[in-house]
Amino acid sequence: MRISASDRTAVASAGSISQSPTAPDAWTPSSWRGREADQQPAWPDPVALWQMTQRLRTLPPLVLPHEVQDLRIAMSEVASGRALLLQAGDCAESFRDGADDIRARIRLLRDLAVILSDGANLPVVTTGRLAGQFAKPRSRDTEAIAGRALPAFKGHLIHDDEATPAGRIPDPRRLLRGYSRARSTLELLTEPACAQRGGRRDLWSCHEALLLPYEESLVRPDPITGGWYGASAHMLWVGDRTRHPARAHIAFLSGLTNPIGCKLGPTATPAEVVEICDRLDPHRRPGRLTLITRLGAARVTELLPPLVEAVRAAAHPVSWVCDPMHGNTRTTAAGLKYRLTDDMLEEACGFVDVHRRLGTRPGGLHLEVTAENVIECAADESVLDSSSYRSLCDPRLNPTQSAHLVGEVARLLRPTDPGSRPTSALSNSR
Ligand code: PEP
Ligand code: MN
Repeated sequence: MRISASDRTAVASAGSISQSPTAPDAWTPSSWRGREADQQPAWPDPVALWQMTQRLRTLPPLVLPHEVQDLRIAMSEVASGRALLLQAGDCAESFRDGADDIRARIRLLRDLAVILSDGANLPVVTTGRLAGQFAKPRSRDTEAIAGRALPAFKGHLIHDDEATPAGRIPDPRRLLRGYSRARSTLELLTEPACAQRGGRRDLWSCHEALLLPYEESLVRPDPITGGWYGASAHMLWVGDRTRHPARAHIAFLSGLTNPIGCKLGPTATPAEVVEICDRLDPHRRPGRLTLITRLGAARVTELLPPLVEAVRAAAHPVSWVCDPMHGNTRTTAAGLKYRLTDDMLEEACGFVDVHRRLGTRPGGLHLEVTAENVIECAADESVLDSSSYRSLCDPRLNPTQSAHLVGEVARLLRPTDPGSRPTSALSNSR
């Protein structure tokens, strides 16, 4: 998806992105601190954490305001049905990834974007779960490894994945390492070997905004809008476990000018989702908010319609995206987490069916993928084996599986009405 200077001027002057979502004087980067913050680690040395955030505050932004605004414009095309979103990458990035691992991930995302764009005959906006996807929410505080209970792994931004009590102690020095890793990953997104088509950005960064002290320390003034933007990534999302409308994560994200995503699992109620929309996008600006549903293959056709109808009745111009991964996680008797490829395809088909039936637009896919030839997801449980399983967290699709799934879903995502064909101003991303 290409953005021209005139697109940028047109959207800014139409006022659709020229103000921050809440009055700037009502929101500050630290106003979340008055609210309950879910999923935050217990830092053994809060003073060391504070010192580290003070240091991050002085560092350059990881992403620039005009890049964030370009993604807002691209996302408004998704909201109007003239483009699709592909949001994909690792469940948890690793501090051990080398440059070639990162390049392979970037290549895979570009390949998947081409498959989606060709199959659906629409431009694709690609946001990678990379350059900051280092902090994980967990359902349980502990995990059993080799019969021993350890604090659950919460991502390399917080502690090590090493299965020892010492490895799992939260260490604030990791915030600076995460910042540096994000910076070098972002550099790989634009290196000539990863040819940006036509010299324009074709891949944006995104991650779950989980660790609030880190995110807060990377908020910067946005000179384009006069508000504030999250400089840790182009797009940020709030997870299913931290999306409580009155709590800290939603309060934090409400004041940023970035495009924002919100994951919605099976416990999300229509009223709650409308409240989330009211808080994150009170001015109803297309491109601001993406709702990423992960309801499970078995329940998507039952749970999705009331959410879509409530959001539509409240006139929120959201993009709807399907995450067919997180509602379909199973566990083997030996304790290995996996996902069945048929479940994922079934949830994606159900998602498209519901939107077609209701006359709303299915806006794209959110996937966990790896460029490694692992087997973490499978057509059936019997082929799983811990020797070809490497994920730090959730089971990912390997390149063959992800290409297959994206290809299948792409055909379903072809626009059904002539009003949503690509416009000449926004040429195909290829
Ligand atoms: C994730 O995307 O890795 C994740 C934890 O998702 P969710 O918040 O939907 O469970
Ligand atoms: Mn995950």
